[in-house]
Amino acid sequence: MTTDAQDHPGSAGVTHRVHDEATIADVAATLAAWFAGCARDLPWRTPETTPWGVLVSEIMLQQTPATRVVTPWREWLDRWPTPRDLASAETSDVLRAWGSLGYPRRALRLQRCATAISQEHGNQVPNDEEALLALPGIGRYTAAAVRAFAFGRRSLVLDVNIRRVLARIDGGREHPARSETVAERRRAWDWVPEDDRDATTWSAAAMELGATVCTARNPRCGECPVAQYCTWLRNGRPEWEGPARVAQTWEGTDRQCRGRIMSALRAATSPVALADVVWADHDQRSRCAASLVEDGLAAHVGPLLALPKSV
Ligand code: SF4
Repeated sequence: MTTDAQDHPGSAGVTHRVHDEATIADVAATLAAWFAGCARDLPWRTPETTPWGVLVSEIMLQQTPATRVVTPWREWLDRWPTPRDLASAETSDVLRAWGSLGYPRRALRLQRCATAISQEHGNQVPNDEEALLALPGIGRYTAAAVRAFAFGRRSLVLDVNIRRVLARIDGGREHPARSETVAERRRAWDWVPEDDRDATTWSAAAMELGATVCTARNPRCGECPVAQYCTWLRNGRPEWEGPARVAQTWEGTDRQCRGRIMSALRAATSPVALADVVWADHDQRSRCAASLVEDGLAAHVGPLLALPKSV
C-alpha cells in the first residue's frame, strides 16, 4: 500500500492555474465560502463528534447516502460509544444494528477494526496514517478521511464525489477514469491547501459539492458556486467518451438474494430454515447462503442458519 506521504509530489501548487484567469486558490476560497453557508447539517460534522464517531460515519458512508446513514449512525454511537464497546458486542447484534445500510461486510470489518483499536491503541483511534492503514478494513480513502475530519490534518481525501468534481473543474471531463491513477492523485494533491484547516475545509466542501450539486447524472451547473471556474462547463459540457457507464442491476441478482437471506436472519429470534426464505431459485438461494457463511455473515446451526455470535 502506498501511503499519501509517498505519492505526494511535494508542496501544494496553490498558484496552479485552472485556466487563464483563475488559480486553484480562487476556487478553494469560493468553495469554502459556499460550504460555510450551505453545508448540510450532518451529525458527524459537529465539533463534539469523537474520532471513533468520524470513523464509523466514514465506513457507513462508503456505499450508502448520508440521508440513510444519519439514524443508524446515531443509534450505533449511543449503543457503542467507543471501539471497546463494539469489540465486546455479539456479532449478531452488530449485524442487526447495521440493518438495511447494505453491504453488511462493512459491519464485520468495523467490529474487527474496533477490536484492533481497543487492543492495540488503548481504545483510541490513531491519527497516524500508517497506523490507520494497518487497521482491519481501513483503506487509503478512509485513513485520509479520518485524518482530515477527525484530526484536522492535511490529507488527500479522494472519494467518488471529489474525483468527479476535479474531473469536471480541472480535467474538463464529465467523469473521472474508472480507477484512480498515480497521475490523478498527484494532480489532486495540488488542490489540497497547505494549511491543515483549509485543507480539511477543501475536502469537506468538494465532497459536499459532488454529493449535492455536481452529481453524477444531473449536475446543477446553474446553482454551482464554482461554475465560473469549471472547465467542463466552459467547454460546453462535452459528452462522455469513455467506457459506457452501466447502472447496476438489482432484481434477481445474488446481491438481492443475499439481502433477502440477511433480512430473514436479522428478523429471526432463533435459527431459520433456508426453505423459509422466499426466493424462487433454489440453487441461487443455496449458493448465496453458502457465500454468506463463507463471508462470516451467517453461521450453520445444524441444518439451520443464524447470524454469527462472533467475528
Ligand atoms: S459547473 Fe457543473 S459540472 Fe462544473 S463543478 Fe459546477 S456543477 Fe459540476
